[in-house]
Order: sequence, then structure tokens, then C-alpha cells
Amino acid sequence: SSFEDLQLSDELLQGVYNMKFTKPSKIQASALPLLLRDPPENLIAQSQSGTGKTAAFSLAILSRVQASDPATQAMVVAPTRELARQIVEVMKELGRFSPVTVTEVIPGGGVYDRKIGGHIVVGTPGTMLRLIQSKALGVARLRMLALDEADIMLDIQSLGAQTMQIKRRVPEATQLIFFSATWAENIVNFARQFMGSGANEIR
Ligand code: AMP
Repeated sequence: SSFEDLQLSDELLQGVYNMKFTKPSKIQASALPLLLRDPPENLIAQSQSGTGKTAAFSLAILSRVQASDPATQAMVVAPTRELARQIVEVMKELGRFSPVTVTEVIPGGGVYDRKIGGHIVVGTPGTMLRLIQSKALGVARLRMLALDEADIMLDIQSLGAQTMQIKRRVPEATQLIFFSATWAENIVNFARQFMGSGANEIR
């Protein structure tokens, strides 16, 4: 398949080609059509680093955000600051020709009192949760919540629980996206807890 087949806007296609991607990777070709279905459906995907998974969920999110609405419409939760930063970089590159804004939340420094904006907000679970609790980050208009490297969340004390608490605070109809490199029993249980009922699965 080609990126033209994936129903992406011209702006996003420009972003893709600007990154020198010529054709979608396997995970991009399989995940994007599922993620762009209307009405939105949840997705659980097993995908390792190096497969193009970041661009897969990033393109879906960039594609669904309505730029004319300034509210935060998507959140991406990652287990480490380093990973969050990498996701932000990929999103900014892919969205380079699009008016959609991406914000990286950085913990500490009075960040919890200040209003956080941006169509898409990316950060680690504890920081995101505190921002929501302190109302610095409004989630009333959230439509997408993505979890990257969910398996790492379970390796680090309290990240899994914080992620579940974030999920409980977002609108019921939020599209849930769950990426994990591995597929052990504890991950599958975590995915089920996170998703509740039905989700598409890619393995
Ligand atoms: P990831 O799986 O997100 O860690 O991405 C691995 C690497 O693949 C990154 O360096 C991306 O820039 C690159 N990449 C992602 N999608 C494509 C694509 N469709 N064609 C070529 N390279 C890609």
C-alpha cells in the first residue's frame, strides 16, 4: 500500500514525505485504517521499536484532531520523559505543515498551576495525572488517549496505576490506543483493564 491510500490530508502527506518515508511500514498500513474508522474504535497493538509504531499512532492522532477547536483533544502517555520527547519530535515533524499543536509536559517547576494547552499533549503518567487533577489540563473535550510502551509502564512502580487513573478521568467515548512491545499475561490483563470492552487487535 501507499500513504495516499491511507486517507491522510495533503498536509500530513507532505509531512510524511518530508521525513523521506516512501511507503507505510507494516504496522502503519494495518493500524491506520483501523484507527481512522468512523465512529472511532479502540486498538491494542503489539509492536516493537523500529517498526514505525510512533508514526502509526501519531498520524492517526494528527489526522483526527480538529485544528479549529483549540481544546486538548488527544493525550499520549509514555513511560519515560525521553520517550515522551521522542514522540513529540515525531509528531512535530509529521505535523510540520499542519496547524495542529503538540505540547510536551515536563514535570516540576510549578507546572501544575499553569494552564497547559495544545491540541495534543504528551507526557509521563504521574505528571499528566497531576495536571488533570489540578485542572491545569482540561480533558473535557478529549477524544483520543494513547499509551505507548505499555509493557514498560508495568515495569516501573505506580505507572500502570497512574495510567488507569488518567483513563478514569477522560470522557467515556474517548478512543483508546494501546501499544506494547511484548504480550505477556500481565500486559494482556492491563490492556483489558484499560480498554474495558471491545478493541481491535494487531499482533
Ligand atoms: P519507531 O518504531 O516509532 O521507533 O520508528 C523507527 C524508525 O523508523 C524511526 O527512525 C522512523 O523515523 C522510521 N520510520 C517510521 N515510519 C517509516 C516509514 N514509513 N518509512 C521509513 N522509515 C520509517
